[in-house]
Amino acid sequence: MKFLTVDDSSQVIGKPYQGRMLINGELCDAHNGATAERLSPAHDVVVGVYPDAGAADAERAVDAARAAFDEGTWPTMSGRDRAEILLKVAEGISARVEEMALIECLETGKPLSQARGEVSGCVDLWKYAAALARTLHGESYNNLGDSTLGVVLRQPVGVVSMITPWNFPIWILSQKLPFALAAGCTAVIKPSELTNGTTLMLGEILLGAGLPKGVVNIVTGMGPVVGQPLVGHRKVDMVSFTGSTRVGRLIAAEAGAALKKVSLELGGKNPQIIFPDCDWDAAVDAVVFGVYFNAGECCNSGSRILVHKDIAQRFSDAVIERARQVPVGDPLHPDVKVGAIISEVQLGGIQAAIDEARSAGATISLGGDRQPSERGMYLQPTIVTGVTPQMTLAREEVFGPVLAVLTFSTLDEAIALANDTCYGLSAAVWSKDIDVCLKAARKIDAGTVWVNTFLDGFPELPFGGFGDSGLGRELGLNAVEDYTEQKTIQLHMGERQNWWLPK
Ligand code: NDP
Repeated sequence: MKFLTVDDSSQVIGKPYQGRMLINGELCDAHNGATAERLSPAHDVVVGVYPDAGAADAERAVDAARAAFDEGTWPTMSGRDRAEILLKVAEGISARVEEMALIECLETGKPLSQARGEVSGCVDLWKYAAALARTLHGESYNNLGDSTLGVVLRQPVGVVSMITPWNFPIWILSQKLPFALAAGCTAVIKPSELTNGTTLMLGEILLGAGLPKGVVNIVTGMGPVVGQPLVGHRKVDMVSFTGSTRVGRLIAAEAGAALKKVSLELGGKNPQIIFPDCDWDAAVDAVVFGVYFNAGECCNSGSRILVHKDIAQRFSDAVIERARQVPVGDPLHPDVKVGAIISEVQLGGIQAAIDEARSAGATISLGGDRQPSERGMYLQPTIVTGVTPQMTLAREEVFGPVLAVLTFSTLDEAIALANDTCYGLSAAVWSKDIDVCLKAARKIDAGTVWVNTFLDGFPELPFGGFGDSGLGRELGLNAVEDYTEQKTIQLHMGERQNWWLPK
């Protein structure tokens, strides 16, 4: 395995970023002044210092968002004016790509090159949302008879709580926030306590773009302390969450009890199905990319492959050979493709999953151990062969650079295996036979099925999961509509027939 280091990263890292929360149009600290430090998981040095907020700060943020919605101009402003501000935010992100990518890299441990791609990709999400702000419309019904005209309005749903995870902090927020803003909603955001940096930088950009006060509020701190109060709060109308299925369930239960609209983007155990007639080189590359991108800390990770028995040995050998050469190491190194793992807890969980697979009789064909390093937390790219469908590794999300290899004999068996988990986020099929690809794509229970590619994405295409992978869809033409309520207005013309007339 290639492990790459950087001689002196301290110059690049510089001073810790001192981020501040955004409440009611002002950058602020926690009410009691408490702060928390974030250590880079690759460098073991402090890279960020953030307010460690409490329930009182969450309350202030919700109050500000409520007031901005009920009394402010944002919900009724024209789509054109809202779009102007969203486009200014896009420009603001564009101007700070390097700065945001660096903090994203330092806090998540992902390669800087990849963080750059993530941040610059967000610019397009904000631009797409700006376009949708101008096209959002309701419906009219002129076919209800001579005396009736029906009009269906789309109104912003209200105050939206957004709770986000640590794996793609600014990207995941940009899948939610600009679309909610385009609809005319106001928001309270709670990023993961591990990765506050880019969300707080976005707060600065929102201020600079002229967003009215209180429209977006950001609170930082621990989930159960500042996240939980945002879920069932009577002043909140909708909750949009991305993260683990475990916390997603808690949030759905609490939001459900309070009868709030909820959208959940949760985990996955996404299969890539490999047929003998696949484009061999492209499939091998996509398998390696699919599982090691973002060190496998990705809801869309291609964490299991289902390979046809006739090519299983040869294909697995090719993947192992390619994976062995993937450059791992300091995420600041320009050639690194797999960086550090987010935390010791996460690393321990990944190692436990590998150990369990070993005990269940699977073979660790590559890696499997923590990568020794002077600083930081790394796991060797791992491939586990001989995995059977009953093993936990075939069914549960690991959220690390661990590939499970399973085999199949027929298309029907491959589809059954693909569907044999509680998740349904994404899948891929690799074959030159269009009948095989289409049958698989139609039968697999997943929100996205890629054919002869993996992990491509466009703002125009909806994203979300079946089953335990979540509720609702983000992105796509309907992304803004998800943040609206429909209101029916029925207009009567001419004389109305009485129900009853007193004699
Ligand atoms: P969590 O689901 O625990 O956290 C996601 C967000 O929810 C964070 O902002 C977290 O806050 C917040 N949160 C935690 N508890 C509550 C609560 N009771 N009420 C409201 N908000 C809460 O994910 P983790 O970050 O802990 O990662 C754990 C596992 O989740 C991973 O191993 C992976 O399997 C999965 N995961 C899946 C993701 C996906 O995209 N599908 C993304 C990230 C993780 P905080 O952490 O700051 O306390």
